[in-house]
Amino acid sequence: MKLHGNMSIRNNTLYIGGVSCTELVNKYSTPLYVFDEGLIRENCRKYNKYFKVEENKNKVAYAGKAFLTLYMCKIIKEENLCLDVVSGGELYTAHKAGFPMENVLFHGNNKTIDEINMGIELGVGRFVVDNFYELDIIEDICKKRNKVQEIYFRITPGIEAHTHDYIKTGQIDSKFGFVLINGDLYEAIEKLYKYKNIKLVGLHAHIGSQIFDIEPYMDEVDIMMDLVKEIKIKYNIDLKEIDLGGGIGVYYTKEDNPKSIQDFCEAIIKRAEQKCKKIGIKVPKLIIEPGRSISANAGSTLYTIGSIKDIKDVRTYVSVDGGMTDNIRPSLYKAGYECSVVNKMKYEKVNKVTVAGKCCESGDILITHANVMDIESGDILITTSTGAYGYSMASNYNKIPKPAVVMVSNGNHRLICKRQNYEEVINLELI
Ligand code: PLP
Repeated sequence: MKLHGNMSIRNNTLYIGGVSCTELVNKYSTPLYVFDEGLIRENCRKYNKYFKVEENKNKVAYAGKAFLTLYMCKIIKEENLCLDVVSGGELYTAHKAGFPMENVLFHGNNKTIDEINMGIELGVGRFVVDNFYELDIIEDICKKRNKVQEIYFRITPGIEAHTHDYIKTGQIDSKFGFVLINGDLYEAIEKLYKYKNIKLVGLHAHIGSQIFDIEPYMDEVDIMMDLVKEIKIKYNIDLKEIDLGGGIGVYYTKEDNPKSIQDFCEAIIKRAEQKCKKIGIKVPKLIIEPGRSISANAGSTLYTIGSIKDIKDVRTYVSVDGGMTDNIRPSLYKAGYECSVVNKMKYEKVNKVTVAGKCCESGDILITHANVMDIESGDILITTSTGAYGYSMASNYNKIPKPAVVMVSNGNHRLICKRQNYEEVINLELI
């Protein structure tokens, strides 16, 4: 198992952020999400540095869908990143955390009228407008409030990123954004002639997630810059901001070979400069929206091992006290993870097992081929890199309560989400 960020091994035991995993389990029980605050902040700082945010050139917006809590908003705010939200709930979280609303980008392919109202009322910096329906509603609300809202248009540039089918979003056949080739984008721009309460300041595209290959991003940059030029010539509109979305891949298992944040940022900036020079336009402000690459490697999940079922010559199932309710990715995307036993980090003997969750679903398998130490019931298993799209996708299937979440840093731990109890699981139900 790869050690990420501030993980270390002392006396056979795994420590994260200077805190022993066994101490965390004794205090908070399992299943437990543990986030390495130092690594989250380090990732944010790398983005700021290499994407030239510090020079006030570009912007980085953390994609909150990866993992968003009040405390996470606080970190993102302190690290001077913008925030991408996709729902009233995420927006509410940011608002409650005191996140500066002018630094919020509001995404979503079907924002409700209430959500749009909320965004306008709270004063979000940019709406990323996905369709005609939303455009009309924003104009209508802003007109009544005598307000001008700055927006980007989200487009589907037709790029097929090399990633899992389920999370491809840049292709033409997508529920997101205005299609380029059928003229939808131009129709939307032409609508703006009569819409006086909307100001178009940029374009947005997102080509997928968990992408290792830089080429699709290069194509994306080219398409976007060509559009900036075309829209200036055709409509005399200066698009000052180009948002290239998120999607940078991370390490989950040995099969993954991600680009560093530095390499990724430098490649994007360089390509934008080259392309703009070639077509004779000024380089717009660039925006990127990383989610996974900020929070995934910073998060881990601790589970207690319960039943161990050995089916001779077939496989050994090791069941833990969580599963698809706290991490749906293996069932949803066949996502791979690494694991280890936190109290036996240096054991010699390694067994091949299948790590199963506790849900009443055969598909509730966290890791199909895991190498673990000589385990026993009661041992604590860790799955690493669960910090993105894990807790944020957690459910109460089988009425299993959501786990607690702690942040660790410099030998300290802090509870940032309480464990749900049974009463809270049923507290919306009426009889
Ligand atoms: N921006 C948009 C519009 C997205 O849909 C997503 C994820 O799906 C992201 C950013 C973040 O992507 P990632 O977490 O892969 O960086």
